[in-house]
Parts: sequence; C-alpha cells; structure tokens
Amino acid sequence: MTTPSDLTGIAVADATSEPWPATATVDGGRLRVEGAAGDGARHTAAAALLPGLINMHDHLRSFLPTGRASEGASLATAITASSATQAVAGPAEYRALTALSAARQVRAGVTTVVDHVYPLHRDGLLEAVVAGHRAVGLRGYLALGIMTRGAERLCTSVEDVVALAERAADVLLPREQLYLAPVSMRSNAPDDYAVAARAAERLGVRLYTHIAETQAEVDACRAEHGVRPVELLHHAGFLRPGTVLVHGVRLSDAEIELIAASGAVVAYCPTNHLRFAKGFAPVVDLLDAGATVTLGVDGMESPFHEMRQAIYAQGQAAGDPGALTSSRAFDMATGAGARALGLPAGFDAGDLVRLDLTAPAVQPLADPVWSVVHRAAPAHVTDVVVAGRHILRDGALTVADDVALAEEASSVVRDLAARIGSTVPQFWGIPSRMAPPQ
Ligand SMILES: [Zn+2]
Repeated sequence: MTTPSDLTGIAVADATSEPWPATATVDGGRLRVEGAAGDGARHTAAAALLPGLINMHDHLRSFLPTGRASEGASLATAITASSATQAVAGPAEYRALTALSAARQVRAGVTTVVDHVYPLHRDGLLEAVVAGHRAVGLRGYLALGIMTRGAERLCTSVEDVVALAERAADVLLPREQLYLAPVSMRSNAPDDYAVAARAAERLGVRLYTHIAETQAEVDACRAEHGVRPVELLHHAGFLRPGTVLVHGVRLSDAEIELIAASGAVVAYCPTNHLRFAKGFAPVVDLLDAGATVTLGVDGMESPFHEMRQAIYAQGQAAGDPGALTSSRAFDMATGAGARALGLPAGFDAGDLVRLDLTAPAVQPLADPVWSVVHRAAPAHVTDVVVAGRHILRDGALTVADDVALAEEASSVVRDLAARIGSTVPQFWGIPSRMAPPQ
C-alpha cells in the first residue's frame, strides 16, 4: 500500500547496477530515494521504482491522420494530409491536443519529452504547447520547428523562429530546454541549417532535426546537393555536442563516424520506422562507434513499447536476436536520454516512476530490467514524480482530469474537421462522465 508521500519498491536506477529495496519520499518538491529496511523492505517486491523515462522525440499535438482510412499511407502522403488541418490550427487546438497527449505520456512513465513543435505559423503556439505540458506536470523541452519550403501556408523564415527562440529563452522556458529545429530536408533549404547553427550558438540553445529518414530523402539530397544528408549537416556546422538527430535510418559508415565524432545524439523511433516501413536504423553500429542513442515515441504508444521494439527491430535487421540487449534498450530510455538533455542521472533529477509488479504480465520476476523492457506497459504505471512533484498518484493525475482533457481534445478534433470541410464520425466521441455506460 502506498501512502501519499512514501513509495516502496525495487529501485532499478540504471541498467547495470543491482536493483535494491528502496523507499522514495516525495516531500515539498523534493524526491529522496533511500534503501528500505525492516518492514519496508518486505513490501518492496510489489513494485519497481524507475528513473523517469525520457521521450526524445514527439509531436504531442499531432495532426497526422488516424483511422483505417489512413492505413497504408506513405510518410509523404500522411504529412501532406496533415497540412490542411495544421493550416487552420491555432493556440487553443495546440494546447488541448498537447495536454491530452501529455497525460498519455505521463501514464506511460514519461517524465520528460522533447516536443518538436511545428508549424509555428501563428502567434501563441509555443506558449500553448508549454501550457499543454504544464496542464499535467510533464517536463517539456521544445524543439522550435523551422519550415521554409513545401506547404506554403505553414512556412516561416529561419529568422522568425530565431526571434521566437530569443523571446522564449529564459522567459517561457530555460534556454537549456530549447532547440532550434529545422524540420527536415523536405521542408528546409541547405542554408537553413547553417543559419540555424549560427543562431543557436549565439543564443546558447541546441539544434534538432529529422534526418536520413528515408531512402528517398537520401537520393534527393545526393541528386540536389551531391552529398548525403548527415554530410550536408556536417558541412553546415550543424553537428555538434548535444545536437539531436531524429531517425537516422539511412546512414553510411562515414556518417556514423561523423555523428559519433561530433557528440550529436540520435533519437531512434523504432515503432514509427516499422509503421512507415522506413527500414532499420544502424543503432548497434552507432553505439559501437560511441554515439549516444536515445528513444523517441513519435506518435506511437510508449517508451516501454519502444524499448522492446528496438530490440526486436535490431535483432531482425542483424539476423541475431541478441544484437541489442535489454540493458542497452533500458539505458536508451533512461540514462542516455538524461545525458543527452543534461539532466542528472538516476533519481537525481527528482523524477521517478512506480510500476506495479503484482501484475501477472510482469511475473514471475527473475530480472527487473528484463521484465520492464519486455513485459511492462503503461497500465502498470501507478505513480509518476517529476522534479519532486507527485503528478500521478495511485493511478490518478493530480493536476488534471483525464476525462476533461479527452472531452476537450475530442471537441477540438471535431471543430478542426469541420473547418477543413471534413467530418468525424459520431462514434468517435467519448461518453460524457454524466452519461451512464451503454
Ligand atoms: Zn517527427
């Protein structure tokens, strides 16, 4: 039984240390995790205490189409289809959709997300996204998306987004939590990367982009610029310590070396890669070269799912089920993410996730790291602490209401659909809390 401030469990602080019986105390904005003894130690087998899970890539207010009608759409088709909705979306829609996704993240054990926000074609969008994170208490880093070509109504100049970053730095969020983020080769000219790199240096913020995501992107980059995508970033001065490269599916050996030597970080999103049939990122080669590889949920289910998908996808690609170990996958979702963001390791950021280990899915428990990676799911998360604040307690959000968030997001989706001349079927609505179950 947990009390409001004390959580007992087997502490799994990282992938390599021996798990130990612990009591976590959340008190006055502080988290303390100490060894449990006596009666406390006897109860620890009922739960696991993990460091916060870190989602290095997502777009919480996603406008990508969902539903059976969108199944089988290519990445390019899905992105094009979302443009009409993005063009009419404003701050209210960004906030409501972000808040609902933020609640889903917290319930999946995520304490920190890097939210890649674009398009930034209207005033107030960044503030709306931050309000969405804060609605549930999630720690949000912002990657400020820059689009200068493609869907014209969604484009801004690099300078506009740099000015936005300048206004946001240490006002909206500490500058350490901001990235300048050209969206992709589809949406940016080569010069954008160089301009963003110089501005990031001046502002003391970091860099972020989707790169080497598909073979089509690599082919287009070579045809247009005579180099591969990561080589182009290297020439633009974009590869540096802390730069986040999302996807990195199609990398040459030389590009893997460039990434490792630069101190840039890869955000690997295995389930998204499988969904869009992008291929298998060379994660084991990146790790062996000394690069930092982290995990991104990217619109899919949860970091638990990503950890095991990473193992299965890498095993499939190598023809070797042991190509990526549970320890490495666990580190990608925890320690590597913390290192990439500059957060303290283990429980030192004041973050903690409690998992119910009495669930049959995670029993019998032989190896907590293996069970967390291969068996755990959002349904097993009972408590989440972010920066010493208990934001999920005994299965309930403490600062928001799931039903209210879902009702608001549902209403936003219907309204957006109506504004672009589309409809959402009636059965998409969630039942009101006032209505009896049917
Ligand atoms: Zn993305």
